[in-house]
Amino acid sequence: MNLASRLQRFNEPETLKMAKLARELRAQGLDVIGLSLGEPDFDTPDHIKEAVIKAVNDNYSHYPPVAGYPELRSAICYKLRRDNNLEYLPEHTLVSTGAKQSIANLVFATVEAGDEVVIPTPYWVSYSEVVRLAEATPVMVRTSLESGFKITPEQLQAAITPRTRLFMFSSPNNPTGCVYTKAEMEGLAEVFRRHPQIWIMSDEIYEYISYVGGHKSIAQFDDLKDRVIIVNGLSKGFAMTGYRLGYLVCSNTDLVKACDKLQGQFTSGANAATQQAAVVALTTDMAPSIAMTKEFEHRKGLVMNLLAEIPDIRINEPDGAFYVFPDVSNYFGKQVGGRTINDADELCMYLLEQGLVSTVTGKAFGEPNCIRISFAASRSDITKGFGRIKDSLAKLS
Ligand code: PLP
Repeated sequence: MNLASRLQRFNEPETLKMAKLARELRAQGLDVIGLSLGEPDFDTPDHIKEAVIKAVNDNYSHYPPVAGYPELRSAICYKLRRDNNLEYLPEHTLVSTGAKQSIANLVFATVEAGDEVVIPTPYWVSYSEVVRLAEATPVMVRTSLESGFKITPEQLQAAITPRTRLFMFSSPNNPTGCVYTKAEMEGLAEVFRRHPQIWIMSDEIYEYISYVGGHKSIAQFDDLKDRVIIVNGLSKGFAMTGYRLGYLVCSNTDLVKACDKLQGQFTSGANAATQQAAVVALTTDMAPSIAMTKEFEHRKGLVMNLLAEIPDIRINEPDGAFYVFPDVSNYFGKQVGGRTINDADELCMYLLEQGLVSTVTGKAFGEPNCIRISFAASRSDITKGFGRIKDSLAKLS
């Protein structure tokens, strides 16, 4: 039996592949330290768990509205006002089964076969693959460690053609942790003003995990707001990856209705009990989320100290999220026991097999000189894991 050819157009997420390989090695009894995962290692705060239990007991067991319960759509507007100083109405929101679904919805709602989508590298693994699945062409714009892994207005302008329909970026960024300043966003906004046909996807899922405070959205520019699609979710800021709750927000109701139509055929509304918990998460005590970010910040300091002991790598200190993304290209071409490490893929496999520490190749994020190392792990695992990375790299010559 044949399978559809569209499956050839995109790849399995490298992040999930590494996690699977690490699990397989652990199942063989090996002590693998996982520094490849993109999820907080904390438990969901108790008051949110209690809200799920209450929702189950209150019989939130029926199909919810496709776009989300009205109380959750209002809670999202409340959150946007409280945290971002942005005014939206409930009909500008659409709740989904994770931000991943929000992204798929908006890509399928905005691009046609043959359209171009500008994506600065490094980018989150799914952006390019969903664009390919939609038969559009991802146009990668390579940024550098020197520019803080941020796209410049000149680079953006140069990448735009009459076929460009969508721009996709995240700030704070996964995998680099870079955060665009207001001035940097203003520079990009200036370019977008010259190209009114381009939608702007602003993925803000790491907004609470910021070490520079006060999250700023590109939706702050009133004249662009109608074509900015904010993507957010509860996975990272509230340690709720397994609950699967994301949302998009756009003041252009045609866009929201289009995504609603798509979602109505694929999955319908997101999990009913989770939606009730999300109302509580977005409208009540933020102290647990703040405490998680404090711990991530402490670990970032620890990680930067550990990285300083590793020779021949280059690194930017992240301003947000929970990853470091060092340039390890000085190790390419080196050998150990007859094995040559040619690129980031092979380096990650070497670190996993010989060092028993899982990381993710930068190739998955469109930057082949780097690897992503997560510090969403305990302080002791971080110390042990980075020690193993250092020892494994020292063996290469
Ligand atoms: N956007 C970015 C930048 C992410 O890193 C992730 C998850 O790793 C997502 C979106 C998807 O999150 P969700 O768990 O809400 O689907």
